[in-house]
Amino acid sequence: MKRRDFISKAAGISAVASLPIADMFARVNDLASATPQAETNYDVIVLGVGSMGSSTCYHLARRGVKVLGIEQFDIPHELGSHAGQSRMIRKAYSEHPDYVPLLRSAYANWQAMEQETGAELYFRTGILHIGKKESQDIAGLRKSASLYSIEVKDVSQAEMTSRFPQFRIPSAYDIVLEPDAGFVTPERSVLLFTEQAIRKGAAIHTKEKTLSWKREGGTITVTTNKQTYQCKKLVITAGPWAGKMIPGLSRNLKVTRQMIAWVKPRNWKAFELSTFPCWTIADIDKPGTFYGFPILPTAKFGGPVGLKLAHHYHGVVSDPDNLNRVPAPEDESVLVDALNKFFPEGYESTHVMKTCMYTNTPDENFILDFLPGYDKEVCVAAGFSGHGFKFSSVVGEIMADLALKGATAHPIGFLNAGRF
Ligand SMILES: Cc1cc2nc3c(=O)[nH]c(=O)nc-3n(C[C@H](O)[C@H](O)[C@H](O)COP(=O)(O)OP(=O)(O)OC[C@H]3O[C@@H](n4cnc5c(N)ncnc54)[C@H](O)[C@@H]3O)c2cc1C
Repeated sequence: MKRRDFISKAAGISAVASLPIADMFARVNDLASATPQAETNYDVIVLGVGSMGSSTCYHLARRGVKVLGIEQFDIPHELGSHAGQSRMIRKAYSEHPDYVPLLRSAYANWQAMEQETGAELYFRTGILHIGKKESQDIAGLRKSASLYSIEVKDVSQAEMTSRFPQFRIPSAYDIVLEPDAGFVTPERSVLLFTEQAIRKGAAIHTKEKTLSWKREGGTITVTTNKQTYQCKKLVITAGPWAGKMIPGLSRNLKVTRQMIAWVKPRNWKAFELSTFPCWTIADIDKPGTFYGFPILPTAKFGGPVGLKLAHHYHGVVSDPDNLNRVPAPEDESVLVDALNKFFPEGYESTHVMKTCMYTNTPDENFILDFLPGYDKEVCVAAGFSGHGFKFSSVVGEIMADLALKGATAHPIGFLNAGRF
């Protein structure tokens, strides 16, 4: 396999890491359009350059193979699953303890990316987890923390009053602080993975939609609205569109419409980054989990401005090409009610609401595997069920392992495609 090295590596560790997000966006999309556009033969094609695809392109390119990433929109964009400034990252994983070894690798890879580019991607705010003792959020977190010796700390009502006065939490709830947790920045991460992939020789095509792919002999043919390509291996990282690209998996990939709000709190300063942590609250009276982030400076993180919160609970099942992006009054009221209930000074007015999509599997665990029926020629990373972004730094490495080595040392057996 031959390395394509058309971008000079003499220009420093990252030409975009310190730029404001809008400039990063322009520079990386310019860089992408300067990569080869007419070449049609590749070692590996990555279908979809979002959260998982950008990281996969990076990990493949750094191993010196000829890789093409095909993205239907710009990189990044607001029409899939990765928009919205921030994504929580935590280790005491309530969903399933088997994720913890992957999380350790994900944390290490985020740190490695920060060192490689000089960018800050992980913000260690700590996360306050709040819920009934027996809730999945709290019981699951304690189980993972105890199995893997992850630091978590019970927080008393008195400590809440002195240290986190922004919250008003009834005594029926447990409150657990996970110090080595916080958020990562999705748009900046996707841009940096893409930039680094290009610098290491990847070709990246934006605004190009993959229409179909098929295997013929030992070759995969990928047809887009612009071109037909051949490759030896295909990695499908198409997010909410994965079911359309892999009809055999579509019944196990349910796309739902999710809403995020940015609001103006009554006391702005109390909710800013450096003062306010990330939080999750499993409300006793409502299904799902409310969660939120501190207010971030938009020059560095991009818009929108305000205190961000959302509800981790499946929204309406939707077609990613026909998503209803208009917020309904009940989309807003469920979030405002939660703010008014748990944050006395948390709400004055709503700035903006945005839509995003989850791609849910039946058990809400990911699919990281070879595609059944295609030997080891097609790999898939899909079904991230609303909690995948934090893993993107390691998912790219896993997909590169599967595509190039036919196996990975990462423990992904529980995420196999054949389990449904
Ligand atoms: C509201 C919300 C909050 C979330 N909060 C968290 C959180 O706090 N922590 C966390 O870890 N995770 C969180 N997640 C989940 C996380 O963001 C997703 O799991 C992750 O972004 C999924 O990545 P992906 O690569 O599968 O999809 P995407 O990032 O959407 O990437 C898929 C890409 O494939 C492209 N594509 C698809 N089809 C084609 C085609 N035919 N041709 C070319 N390109 C194509 C798409 O345009 C897209 O860019 C949240 C998600 C949402 C919606």
